[in-house]
Amino acid sequence: MHSTGEKPGKGIYQCINCNQKIKLSGSSDTLPPCPRCRKSKYKKIK
Ligand SMILES: [Zn+2]
Repeated sequence: MHSTGEKPGKGIYQCINCNQKIKLSGSSDTLPPCPRCRKSKYKKIK
């Protein structure tokens, strides 16, 4: 589980509330608030 503000690294993350996917392209990218539901919890899916 990852939260908004973390830099968990390159990959695809999915909001656990609405299933919106977020792509991070580098190790310095920060997880944003979910663009769809504004929640902040994600799981890594790829
Ligand atoms: Zn969401």
